[in-house]
Amino acid sequence: MPEIPFVNIPEIRNSVCILDVDGTLVADNTETVNPEVKERVRTLAAHNDVWLATNSRNTRRNEAIARQLQLPLLTSSFRKPSTRLFDELPEHCVGKPYVVIGDRVLTDGLLAKRGRAQFIKTQRVTGKDRLFMRCIFWFDDVIYTLTKPLWDTST
Ligand SMILES: [Mg+2]
Repeated sequence: MPEIPFVNIPEIRNSVCILDVDGTLVADNTETVNPEVKERVRTLAAHNDVWLATNSRNTRRNEAIARQLQLPLLTSSFRKPSTRLFDELPEHCVGKPYVVIGDRVLTDGLLAKRGRAQFIKTQRVTGKDRLFMRCIFWFDDVIYTLTKPLWDTST
């Protein structure tokens, strides 16, 4: 599966979408969502149940993004790739296909694998990333490159 920018992800219908924030919608630890991203989120949310899921502990920032996008935020104390995150989803989500959309295989990709969800790997949005985050991205990208065939199946 080639990496695609979030705004170019394929059409998804009648699914539960778990949407990563950092590196997928905005650069790491930033909070301004550009209009194209907002528009793609809007069309995604028109046809699906969309939830934001971030491992960032910056609650104020996470809530600011959720408000801009008018999307609910999973607030579980569990972090990706724990599928315990899904426990927070409401009853009407049970039984629907799940799709995890994100830039990192070791969080978003593994969450999808463990939760039997489809994984859509997005091209990372980068900015003035901290050295620590650049190392994390590098490591994630190495793992992705080495394990690419694992992520090629859509389910
Ligand atoms: Mg991310």
